[in-house]
Amino acid sequence: MIDKQLVAWGSSGNIIREIAEYGAEQAKKGETVYNFTIGSPSIDPPGIVRETMERYLNAVPAAKLFTYAPAAGYPAVREKIAGYLTKTHGVDYRAQDVLVTCGTSTCLAVLTRVLLSGGGRAMAFAPYFMDYKYYAEAVGSSLIECPTEAGTFRLDLAAAERALAPDVQMLVVNTPNNPSGVVFSRESLTGLAALLERKQREYAHPIYLVADGPYRELVYDGLESVFLPELYKNTIDCYSFSKGMSLPGERVGFMALRADMDGHDDLLAACMGVIRAFGYICVSSMWQQVAADCLGATSDVGVYRANRDLLYGALTEMGYACVHPDGAFYLFLKTPEPDAQAFCRRAMRENLLIVPGDAFGTPGYVRVAYCVDRGTIEGSLPTWEALAREYGLK
Ligand code: PLP
Repeated sequence: MIDKQLVAWGSSGNIIREIAEYGAEQAKKGETVYNFTIGSPSIDPPGIVRETMERYLNAVPAAKLFTYAPAAGYPAVREKIAGYLTKTHGVDYRAQDVLVTCGTSTCLAVLTRVLLSGGGRAMAFAPYFMDYKYYAEAVGSSLIECPTEAGTFRLDLAAAERALAPDVQMLVVNTPNNPSGVVFSRESLTGLAALLERKQREYAHPIYLVADGPYRELVYDGLESVFLPELYKNTIDCYSFSKGMSLPGERVGFMALRADMDGHDDLLAACMGVIRAFGYICVSSMWQQVAADCLGATSDVGVYRANRDLLYGALTEMGYACVHPDGAFYLFLKTPEPDAQAFCRRAMRENLLIVPGDAFGTPGYVRVAYCVDRGTIEGSLPTWEALAREYGLK
């Protein structure tokens, strides 16, 4: 018999994609659409990526280049990633601590299965990337949604302490954050690490911190993007080349376990077990090598910063309330009516496409992805303005 829950998930689809597809239909009819739904980079990968890809294409025979890669990734790729992390972040990694994955999605799905299959729950700070919940529910568990500070979306350590139940096995932290654009401060993350240490002792089991960091390089105005494994040894660093290197469709990322973390060898073996048992094997052979050769290269994030300045400045001037986004490429806007879905539907009628915060565990807000061309932002401003007037924001 086919699992009804899986059928339901598969049929309900993804709200972001549904809205984006509506936009695509409208565009086909010749309508001008302002699509702020999908977090897919709008700028080219750094030049070195194309050069490296061409080097591989020209130098390596196809039968070797497109062969199956080892399930955990090429040893040379793992070595390069480990060396890069060690050099850049000052935390020691060895090649065997790194697994190459299909982006952070695979890291999260694998880790959730590994850490929750034996029971227990996951926890994340709201607002959060919606898929965390599915990954937890897919293993028969659930996600504890811990609130952040109202309006600022900064970490609320007192709330975290209350939410950290004895059966929490993993805490997912995403900074810079999708959807709020908030970058958690070193001070708050140090406090969180101390809280986790204390709770581990109290509950007498490890609490793993899953650092979901695909937006690591996307921080503006010289702000620090803290490397979480530096603060807490039971951290699994999950990274992706989707955002900072603008390669979302090539599906390359990795997870890295600190060599000294509790249960390191079993955890790594169990991840390999899930990778095998669930078919998450063999990340693109060429792309993992290209990405590893380009480590440290980042797309021109100045483009996103300019987009942020334009959109944030214009919308707040119109009377919309929004936390200042210091990273990633999202703006999280308080909706002028309590029902964010109704506001999204209203905006949709004007071909302005945004995503309700309900999808991120935070009703009353909408996510505006500003990884779009500048013309889309400029063209959308009269519509935002008209909505602001209609809702009496000015
Ligand atoms: N985590 C967060 C917070 C994201 O925003 C995304 C994608 O938008 C992912 C994980 C998954 O990205 P990928 O699998 O492309 O690395």
